[in-house]
Amino acid sequence: MFTKSNIPELFKQYAPHLDPAPYLAAAHVFPMRVNNHVAESLVDWKNVPEDPMFQLAFPQPAMLHRPDLERMMHASRTGIPKAGLQQLAEEIRMEMNPHPANQKTENVPKLNGEELPGMQHKYRETVLFFPSEGQFCHAFCTYCFRWAQFTSVGSAQTFKSSNAGQLRNYIAKNRQVRDVLFTGGDPMVMPVRHLAGYLDPLIANDTEDLAHLDTIRIGSKSLAWWPYKYTTDGEAGDVLRLFERVVRSGRQLAFQAHFSHPRELEHPAAQEAIRQIRMTGAQVRGQAPLIRHVNDKPEVWRRMWDLQVKLGVVPYYMFVERDTGASHYWNVPLGRAHDIFNTAYSQLSGTARTVRGPSMSASPGKVGVVGVENIRGEDVFLLKFWQARDPSWIGRVFFAKYDPEATWLSDLVPAFGEKEFFFEPRYRELVKRTGEGSSGQLSD
Ligand SMILES: *Cc1c(COP(=O)(O)O)cnc(C)c1O
Repeated sequence: MFTKSNIPELFKQYAPHLDPAPYLAAAHVFPMRVNNHVAESLVDWKNVPEDPMFQLAFPQPAMLHRPDLERMMHASRTGIPKAGLQQLAEEIRMEMNPHPANQKTENVPKLNGEELPGMQHKYRETVLFFPSEGQFCHAFCTYCFRWAQFTSVGSAQTFKSSNAGQLRNYIAKNRQVRDVLFTGGDPMVMPVRHLAGYLDPLIANDTEDLAHLDTIRIGSKSLAWWPYKYTTDGEAGDVLRLFERVVRSGRQLAFQAHFSHPRELEHPAAQEAIRQIRMTGAQVRGQAPLIRHVNDKPEVWRRMWDLQVKLGVVPYYMFVERDTGASHYWNVPLGRAHDIFNTAYSQLSGTARTVRGPSMSASPGKVGVVGVENIRGEDVFLLKFWQARDPSWIGRVFFAKYDPEATWLSDLVPAFGEKEFFFEPRYRELVKRTGEGSSGQLSD
């Protein structure tokens, strides 16, 4: 395992032409965790710093605004005490929207009048669960929207639960819930006994009260960052047998795999891991955000989706990077995102066109940019709800003025001279009622 203190030795060994100082400064502000699979098998050191895997795993100097980078490097050079460095790092983090739109407090469900921490229930059919032991990752992605939770200061605020019984009871009482999604961090960092502690109560078919639960999903980067979890790790067999138990209970086990770049899928261990997981009867789906410096080319997505289909992974979502952390370094304007998506999509076989994107996980719902057109003389975005707080919005299409610089829903205004988007009056009512997103802004 490599952290920021290993940067000098790693660069000396693999990239002697790179000055480690600005990278150390970046890694003081942004969390860094790189394992030997990533450092030794995925990063192409001949091509650093441009290499996409290097960009994805190592905090980059340009993630800091120039003056912040200089302040940080100056502080390191003058050897100020560790506490001073940490304080400076925290000041810089606070300027970078570390907790976008009340992620921690929004959409928290209640059972018998009591709030259930570690759960989110925003869309009628799907509950999210954040298991306590799964709130970190095998390696950290530099663009992660939960980055602040992995810094020492953010970790105290981690939103999580270790209450498997509460999860079970909530689902049992809410018959509209068809689907539970384990997320994090990464649930697949958990030892198998913890994972089983959460899953086994949900699949016990000894009572009728969970008969409406059709699908268990696990959101994970482990197939890219640590595929040995399913191949050579001591517990690999137990993990696969647990997956088999879920499938045998008559439910779908859907593995939502985070793949950012085709190189992750080209590794033989990842391909073997996918094969092992699919043999249990589980389904594997692929999803990732579109990120400048990592995967902002149509060719990268076309190759990735082609390879996914060949390996039996179902292409699912291309997301838009959220407005947090170093988004100035990572984000891709919506118009360009749509172009990248469509150029790749148009070259796929129909079997890969299960993918949707680019999709913004915004506060009203998941909003797709499904078209850029000129309608009677006005350049517009066509937007579509794929998920929504109000289920009656799902599938509806609406229009925003084309703006080549817009990177998020909150940057957009309605087309055709309309005052607001069709959903806004109802949206304001919904956020007022639950007391969340107090500003009613269409951010996250
Ligand atoms: C994305 C997301 C889901 C799952 O949406 P699907 O379209 O079913 O994959 C559920 N809850 C929240 C809060 C989400 O952001």
